[in-house]
Amino acid sequence: MGHRIESDSRKLLGRLRDTMAEDAAGQARLDKIVHLIASSMQTQVCSIYLFRDSETLELCATEGLDAAAVHQTRMRLGEGLVGRVARTRSVINTADAPAAKGFRYMPETGEERYSSFCGVPIQRLGSALGVLVVQSREAREFSADEVYALEVVAMVLAEMAELGAFVGEGSAMTARHQQPVLFRGTTGQEGATDGHVYLHEPRVVVTNPVADDPDSELARLREAVDTLRVSVDDMLNTTTTVNTEQVQVLEAYRMFANSRSWMRRMEEDVQSGLSAEAAVEKEQSLARSRMNSAGDAYLRDRLHDLDDLSNRLLRILTGQGKETGAAMPENAVLVARNIGPGELLEYGKGLRGIVLEEGSVGSHAAIVARAWAIPLVIHAKNITAEALNGDPILVDGDQGIVHLRPDENVHNAFRDKIAMQALAQERYASIRDLPATALCGTTVNLHMNAGLMADLPSLPSSGAEGVGLFRTELQFLIRNQMPKRAELSALYSRVIDAANNKRVAFRTLDIGSDKVLPYMQAQDEPNPAMGWRAIRVGLDKPGVLRMQLQALIRAAHGRPLTIMFPFVAQLQEFRDAKAEMNKALDRERILGHPLPSKIEVGAMLETPSLAFAPDAFFEEVDFLSIGGNDLKQFFFAADRENERVRRRYDTLNVSFLSFLELVVERCAKAGKPVSFCGEDAGRPIEAVCLAAIGLRTLSMRPASIGPVKHLLRRVNLNEARGVIADSRARGEQSVREAIGEWLSKQS
Ligand code: PEP
Ligand code: MG
Repeated sequence: MGHRIESDSRKLLGRLRDTMAEDAAGQARLDKIVHLIASSMQTQVCSIYLFRDSETLELCATEGLDAAAVHQTRMRLGEGLVGRVARTRSVINTADAPAAKGFRYMPETGEERYSSFCGVPIQRLGSALGVLVVQSREAREFSADEVYALEVVAMVLAEMAELGAFVGEGSAMTARHQQPVLFRGTTGQEGATDGHVYLHEPRVVVTNPVADDPDSELARLREAVDTLRVSVDDMLNTTTTVNTEQVQVLEAYRMFANSRSWMRRMEEDVQSGLSAEAAVEKEQSLARSRMNSAGDAYLRDRLHDLDDLSNRLLRILTGQGKETGAAMPENAVLVARNIGPGELLEYGKGLRGIVLEEGSVGSHAAIVARAWAIPLVIHAKNITAEALNGDPILVDGDQGIVHLRPDENVHNAFRDKIAMQALAQERYASIRDLPATALCGTTVNLHMNAGLMADLPSLPSSGAEGVGLFRTELQFLIRNQMPKRAELSALYSRVIDAANNKRVAFRTLDIGSDKVLPYMQAQDEPNPAMGWRAIRVGLDKPGVLRMQLQALIRAAHGRPLTIMFPFVAQLQEFRDAKAEMNKALDRERILGHPLPSKIEVGAMLETPSLAFAPDAFFEEVDFLSIGGNDLKQFFFAADRENERVRRRYDTLNVSFLSFLELVVERCAKAGKPVSFCGEDAGRPIEAVCLAAIGLRTLSMRPASIGPVKHLLRRVNLNEARGVIADSRARGEQSVREAIGEWLSKQS
């Protein structure tokens, strides 16, 4: 960049900063700023358009256009050149504006006199705040240096807007972060909550976007980048993980931290008058807008890495750590880009809800939220940029919707929804100690799924008759290293104590697939869900399985013990796993430890193959538990983690129901109990159908027990069976409609 432009830019930024410091109303400041920019850039027009709401831009100040148009001229996002700059978050620079694509003539502004147009987005950390425009009569394109200078100015304007510098009375702008915003995401866990935002990583606040002395600012920047490089190197050197993905991310961090072009761009920003922090943010904003438009997943991931790295750099420069001292508000709703299960568990059960920008339904954070029965919405795009600590927030986990700073009407409607849910809860509480006996007299046993110590208090409060599935891998996932046998045995013993003589079916470790332990060698598999996971790992590398079986036997300490092996696909796998169990029992006996008073060893049926296993299999197992989540994905060949295909196949599809009936029949023939423990068991309509085809034990998350029991007690399962049979006879693909219609006629 030329020296003259550089020093002009610095002068202009200095003046902007002075207007910030003046005690003036927001509108007066905006008016002064457009005047300053127009004279410094030697253009006839300078205008600032800001967002009035998320879809509408408003001309908020101008030098050169008709003053009467201020706060009158508005355009929708994408409309006209200004709207296009805002939507694409990129610069439009043209010598002949009226001829440019998308130009919209706005007669009230008198802009027909001006030929050239240059608009740059005013954005902060990827969220668009407005557009800065310069225009002149002369038909010319603005030079690259001029455009760059405008971008620098726009960065300072964004910081000023964030700090509330343009807020004013009357028609002036209201402060940012005050309007209601609606986010449409995806349901991670149902339920509704009314609370206040607690940011997992509060935004860094930059109060000094402009700096006087570029040399000392450059020194600050370089020192901070050095600190950053050292910390990234340390992370890489001390990481014990062989998890290739994690190492890849750290390698990408290192690459960016040492990137000359990133450094050079930030140095140029500082030369033109920005503070080191503002320079980092300017480049981060650019990366974020590229991230939003990047089609390629790999590129998006790398831009993400750069974004994380910029955050680290900002925290080094400002000294603002994650711990800002902000107290956790009452009824805290955690808002984060993403969060791991360990970090989430640290917050404890006090959270009222969770909202994430990323995440997936099957993620471990989702499993924890489900275990806590608190609403979770994922894919709430951009919420971390909008929300402030303490903001009122309503989370509608049923619809996957979040209302940030809701207005009174929405709030009232939401209170009604919560009250309705509370009423329903009361209704469920009143039947808590009653059996799930249908009108035909059949009783269905309802058990709960668990995986954390924190789940156990739900056992008495939900009315569950036992724990039908204890996912032991959660204990492994939330740690940074392999738990010790003594630690596990103490934990399992507490689980058995807490169950108070109720049955707990411990499932041995189901790792692999999406459940990757940070401290175990990750496998580079083309298709991990069908890869080396669960019992396959347990049998091939039996060390951990043996340790776990020993821990379970010791935990039982003479009490009954129930164990099931996950993902058994053929008879021999069950035999081998059971042989491990018997060896563990022998070993414990020799060591003098008391053995369980009774032991049941079962298998999870999660692959279709097992339904066709020889009779011997059904005779040798003590019980079977159908893992519907995995079974369904393999039955339909539809990835349970892939939102696009996941919902395509209905659990109430007649093929799937017929298949489940076959399993029920084979178990009945061998006289072995069978239960169903996938997520579908917790959905009342699905639960009725599962019971109708003969399943007598369903295991689900605790919060589902009430609704499932409530419905089961109101229906006659013989009739339901008839409805299913008729629907099948009519050749329907799914029985859902027929069952729905029948249910709607029940009292
Ligand atoms: C299942 O697959 O249905 C199951 C209960 O196991 P998980 O969801 O832990 O894979
Ligand atoms: Mg499974």
